Amino acid sequence: MAVWEKILYELKNRNKIDKARFDALVSKTPADGIKELIALGAVESEQAAYKFYFSSLRARTLEDVLISEGTLSAADLERIIDEFKGVPGNLKDILIERNIVYPLAVYKAIAVQHHADFVDLNTEKIDDALFSKFDINIVRRYQFIPHKMEGDKLVIIIDDPSDVERIEEIESVIGFPTAACVAVKSDISRIINLMIETSLSETALFSDTDDTPLLKVVNEDADDTAADAEFLKTMSDSSIVKTVDSVILKAIRKKASDIHFEVYPEGLKVKYRIDGALYVVKTIDVKSKNFVISRLKNMASLDISEKRIPQDGRFKRFIDDRAIDFRVSVLPSVFGETVVIRVLDQNALGLDLNRLGFPDHDLVRFKKNIFKPYGMILVAGPTGSGKTTTLYSAIRAIKTPEDKFITIEDPVEYQIPDIVQINVNEKKGLTFASGLRSIVRQDPDEIMVGEIRDFETANIAINAALTGHLVLSTIHANNVIDAIGRLVNMGVDPYQFAASFNLIMSQRLIRKICASCRKEHTPDGEMIKLMGDFEAYKDNKFFRGEGCRFCHNTGYSGRTGIYETMPLSDTIKAMVIGRTSPLEIKKQAVSEGMTTLRQSAWKRVVDGVSTIEEINRMTFED
Ligand SMILES: [Zn+2]
Repeated sequence: MAVWEKILYELKNRNKIDKARFDALVSKTPADGIKELIALGAVESEQAAYKFYFSSLRARTLEDVLISEGTLSAADLERIIDEFKGVPGNLKDILIERNIVYPLAVYKAIAVQHHADFVDLNTEKIDDALFSKFDINIVRRYQFIPHKMEGDKLVIIIDDPSDVERIEEIESVIGFPTAACVAVKSDISRIINLMIETSLSETALFSDTDDTPLLKVVNEDADDTAADAEFLKTMSDSSIVKTVDSVILKAIRKKASDIHFEVYPEGLKVKYRIDGALYVVKTIDVKSKNFVISRLKNMASLDISEKRIPQDGRFKRFIDDRAIDFRVSVLPSVFGETVVIRVLDQNALGLDLNRLGFPDHDLVRFKKNIFKPYGMILVAGPTGSGKTTTLYSAIRAIKTPEDKFITIEDPVEYQIPDIVQINVNEKKGLTFASGLRSIVRQDPDEIMVGEIRDFETANIAINAALTGHLVLSTIHANNVIDAIGRLVNMGVDPYQFAASFNLIMSQRLIRKICASCRKEHTPDGEMIKLMGDFEAYKDNKFFRGEGCRFCHNTGYSGRTGIYETMPLSDTIKAMVIGRTSPLEIKKQAVSEGMTTLRQSAWKRVVDGVSTIEEINRMTFED
């Protein structure tokens, strides 16, 4: 990089000039450019400008960038230095593996460190046409994504811009000079794999099963590995193991939330649930089906010989640079055992409040209440509405080493470091209510109760909130007003209710329009009328997905949350105590700024994130 360009990079990184100014100046001569910089007040003199060149030569270390940006605490760094007797060479991997810093923040810092732009592959649109121009094997071997052309340079997205050897090899193979920008390593491999496997057809998806690496087991002790080896010995060949690993690997890359193995007389049908819909991806022949089921049960440490009762288990594997949990449920059906695997991919969710899709208004209300020292926070919604994800993200946001956080769940979905998590076990008498009663005696500061289903649980939770604990929970109800109704119907005392609650919210997950095939479109006038005031939206631009290989022709890809949040104001508390009708309470909440689920959904349509059809499917008229 030329001296002049380095000066400008350094100024940009220090926010002395913006990207547009950088682009305008980089093509000028240093003499002219420096004059302009002085006129702008970005530097004081020519000499001062060259100082930025020298400071750019003193490349900053990753820990320096992370600490100066406030992403890594000096205490955490000291702990690592103590443990490794110095800053370890693979600091970034350690920070990510130990959940000390989010991958996104680590790679953003790497970008800053190397004066490169950062690209968030979760939001950035991939240039399909440009990507297709390059040999997929080269892209896969060197793990980069062609991003855009800038003059005669190809801008590539890569995880490590300091890997000069790899970048030089890429340049010599593709025959272009390149410029590098940075993205999260696992995101890059995910996108490349996604581009490779754009089809859900069995042949395309599983053609390379024989090359599938055996998935690495995480955190399993020696006993399990021995059991695994024993099991493999008894198997005729390891092709079953490869088949199962391949099904799991592809499911992760397809972002499936569940993997179904349904047993029929003709064989085993494998289905993926992606963004809420099921797709058949593979049929396993009748000869292999029992081996596949046995393998799955073995992975989940279940009793292979027991075939008549339902069993639940879990396992963990390393896939695409991250550890992923799987929860396994086995159920005997008339044709044999049927298995469903729930994918618990913490990374896919991020468990970051800022990335769940909360509009600012609701996020502010939610955060304000979860950071209060005590009181109840209740999230309402049907199964699959993302309630648990919201609560886990809240836990991650509020937990500190100084506080004791205990959860009781049915079952524990994600293991979070440094908090005590308890599984409900109804058979052994460990219910939400009995567990919660014991938790209160364990001196907690914050408690999460997976779900309030009965009066007893509600009552203990409310008492815990009244005695200085922060209590997070969920309830099976359609919206915040229904949630109040359910609690009152359970027999909760309105006075205690009003005294203990900070906030009730409700949520749904709606499908987002696929970014790869999003097109403007004019919805039917009648459709818009359904949503309310036609006149107000007649000039609005609406979008939908036309269907493409990335969304399996559904027009949708990924989901986002819609929310309604109701803080319990004094007026609303008085209304609850006075047993005011739900309709009146709702009116009051709206007058205090509550956006209803329906309004929140409608906003997503107006903003071009989702479609009228989708929100009609997911929400009811107010
Ligand atoms: Zn699409």
